[in-house]
Amino acid sequence: MQNYQQILEEIQLELQPYLHKGTVANYIPALSKVNPNQFAMSITLFDGTTYSVGCSQSRFSIQSISKVFTFTKALNIYRHNLYKKVGREPSGNPFNSLVQLEYEKGIPRNPFINAGAIVVTDALLTHYQKTEKTFENILTFIQEVSDNQNIGYDPMVWRSECEHGFRNLALANLMKSFGNLENEASSTVETYFKHCAITMNTQELARSILFLANHGIDPINGKKFITSDQAKRINAVMLTCGHYDASGDFAFHVGLPAKSGVGGGIVAVVPKKMGIAVFSPRLNSWGNSLLGTKALELFTAKTGFSIF
Ligand code: GLN
Repeated sequence: MQNYQQILEEIQLELQPYLHKGTVANYIPALSKVNPNQFAMSITLFDGTTYSVGCSQSRFSIQSISKVFTFTKALNIYRHNLYKKVGREPSGNPFNSLVQLEYEKGIPRNPFINAGAIVVTDALLTHYQKTEKTFENILTFIQEVSDNQNIGYDPMVWRSECEHGFRNLALANLMKSFGNLENEASSTVETYFKHCAITMNTQELARSILFLANHGIDPINGKKFITSDQAKRINAVMLTCGHYDASGDFAFHVGLPAKSGVGGGIVAVVPKKMGIAVFSPRLNSWGNSLLGTKALELFTAKTGFSIF
């Protein structure tokens, strides 16, 4: 077996020269207040063993990583019908772009760009009927896959995004104008912002994603969350769309299904082996963690654990 702790420590050391590269997301004012020079990385194996370096117990805003969980939930409820409202093709555009949505008549390319995730939240709102109940169900699901009741959200980040989320409201309204939003644009984006404001640390995130590395079944406690077929498809969408217009670049350098968030987190799946999470708030020009991406590239290079 590989010496995972040593590998993580090597990665941390090799990344030192890059620690001050990139910029923290500032379009959500509350996010710009985090200490930019943080780094954490954790891996969790199928027997629950976890290896970490850095501030792996400090929670951060998971932001778009939450889209993996909402997509999973909505797929569970709506099955194939979900794809009437949202596609599963890479967008080749930034995560918050309005342009493509206009000429593709309000059907977002995939569930991981903002427009697609808003449609997914809208579908969950329709199912659960009330905003509070919808959020509760999303949070409960994340607690279940993490096997951790203590996970919650940051109300300051939520409020901050509600006050400044102009583009997301525009995306929701544009989709509403095309008839692809069932609920009110404002309550849909507020619920979307709330699940983006959920906070977790890298240890919790690495644990939470294990079911996707094991055909939909939690390898530690045996709970079945989704079918093997669904797990395969969610991983496929993570690989092709998980890093927006940098998804190709990420697949090229890292070669794992993964999802990033503007809070600086990335989760990655090593099929049949482990869950990985990295955190570093400085982002590259595509809005993905700069150090996080490099850390994952180093990890797959050192271990040979890419899917290719
Ligand atoms: N809440 C963020 C937004 O809607 C999520 C974006 C992200 O993490 N890429 O802009």
